Amino acid sequence: MTQDSEKPKAAETEGGEAVAQTKPAAKRRRGRVFINEERCKGCGLCITFCPTHVLERAARFNTRGYHPPMAAHLENCTGCDICGHFCPDYAIYGVRLAEPDKTKESKDDSSKD
Ligand code: SF4
Ligand code: SF4
Repeated sequence: MTQDSEKPKAAETEGGEAVAQTKPAAKRRRGRVFINEERCKGCGLCITFCPTHVLERAARFNTRGYHPPMAAHLENCTGCDICGHFCPDYAIYGVRLAEPDKTKESKDDSSKD
């Protein structure tokens, strides 16, 4: 019998077999971008600085007479929120989406009571 109090937290397995934490290989994160068109003043900073070129200037005007950005290539959005950091008017922000594989795994785990 071994004492567990000083055990390193790297492996918590039975039978002496350690399970390495597998990091997903260089997989692009998925994200979503939200735009409040009425706050936008059409400066284009978000379009310029989006690293994956998600945004384009929309042809339509908002009620203030500016062209807001639109997510023309949403499939490329990583949710990094760089657009949100550059926007001077808090008119846009990005969020990261949960990994789809992880949500599938957790469904299988039923709670006992
Ligand atoms: S940075 Fe903000 S204000 Fe400028 S175009 Fe983008 S959403 Fe509009
Ligand atoms: S969250 Fe990141 S990837 Fe998505 S539109 Fe904004 S800057 Fe581009």
